[in-house]
Amino acid sequence: MDLSLDIYSPVQPLQNQLFADKGLQVYIKRDDLIHPIISGNKWRKLKYTLQEANRQGKHHLVTFGGAYSNHLMATAAAAAKFGFKATGFVRGEEVSNDTLFMCRLHGMQLIFTDRESYRDKHTLFEKHFGNDTNAFFIDEGGASIEGAQGVAELIDELPQTYDHIFCACGTGTTAAGIINGLTTHGSPTAFNGVPALKGGDFLREDIDKMLTTPADYVLHTGYHFGGYGKTTPDLIDFIKKFIAETGILIDPVYTGKMLYALYDLAAKDHFARGSKILVIHTGGVWGLLGMKEKFGF
Ligand SMILES: *Cc1c(COP(=O)(O)O)cnc(C)c1O
Repeated sequence: MDLSLDIYSPVQPLQNQLFADKGLQVYIKRDDLIHPIISGNKWRKLKYTLQEANRQGKHHLVTFGGAYSNHLMATAAAAAKFGFKATGFVRGEEVSNDTLFMCRLHGMQLIFTDRESYRDKHTLFEKHFGNDTNAFFIDEGGASIEGAQGVAELIDELPQTYDHIFCACGTGTTAAGIINGLTTHGSPTAFNGVPALKGGDFLREDIDKMLTTPADYVLHTGYHFGGYGKTTPDLIDFIKKFIAETGILIDPVYTGKMLYALYDLAAKDHFARGSKILVIHTGGVWGLLGMKEKFGF
């Protein structure tokens, strides 16, 4: 079975008055263009996971997510594309929204699960699919060593060396993959993660577990805007302005917060003049659809 996608993810310059004034060269790697639904880091995290499922002869992907999960949607679309069956456990009572519509459209079966049972994913999996020898467990958000392994390949694609890489963090799998890729290349690039969740320092433990070699990195934990999925009018204004000025869609959950952090740090002279900075666009632009009412149009 051919479990691959042709990766189209160009690195493009991101130019504006702020970066010019501060003497910064900023670029954005467009992982959002990899696939309309299996976008960004979600494809990279699924690649070796699907290969492992296939190697074990398992053709039913079982995974987990909230009602707005980009991972659920990406898994549904990847399953459809590569001929797997898919089931998604959705946290919370039954709802319908654009994300779940896309999951169902790609043939994913959804099982709504109360928050209490949702906590123990392995028990849920055993209870429903313990007897299904075809079922393959994929953790929430695609968090896994295979996930990080797929993300590390992003570094092989870079056309030059940067002083900094910026990336949004949820489970930290993408961060770990990028750091591992930098280590493999012996790269001096500093990794800067921007956690989308409050209390982002907990993430350090999760990232460290997935590192192939211990490494230093920076987490900018002050840009969660109240917590996961939370926004402020200031963040929404930034996103509106960014999209209208660049033609690049970003979302309020992940990439919006990460880019806000970069612009804010640049304005506060955090970076040396002449620094080269690469931003990873991790995709997930459909997250915008769950937040339309915040934009007040
Ligand atoms: C899922 C997601 C992330 C978080 O990735 P992790 O590997 O869980 O840290 C970041 N950005 C976007 C757009 C995402 O959809």
